Amino acid sequence: MKTCRSTRRLPYAGLLVALYTAGAGEEEYPSRHEMVRRCELGEGHGDPHSAYLYAHDGGPELWARWEGEADEIRFVRLTPCEEGDPGLPPVHRSACAFPAGHACGHAWEDGEREQARE
Ligand SMILES: [Zn+2]
Ligand SMILES: [Zn+2]
Repeated sequence: MKTCRSTRRLPYAGLLVALYTAGAGEEEYPSRHEMVRRCELGEGHGDPHSAYLYAHDGGPELWARWEGEADEIRFVRLTPCEEGDPGLPPVHRSACAFPAGHACGHAWEDGEREQARE
């Protein structure tokens, strides 16, 4: 699957507050020049653009979300999608890792394997 190309610079102060609220320690805070994040969803997805930021002890994940170039970045806590690829034996299945309920295909989906499976 091709990845969406949308990138945004995150507001640093807002990000630190979101990380702090999610339980991140200061040593886990990114530096200012790591603030540009790229959407991780599949190309043509229907959700807002989403970039994974942080998870604390198996709690909900912190994601940055935005719509268009001018839209304000929102920091949201989301549970991950835990679908594994049914075309692989269970030991080789890794969970999808997109937020649960995402509108695009799962992270492990790609067109070629889809065809090989019929
Ligand atoms: Zn996107
Ligand atoms: Zn999924």
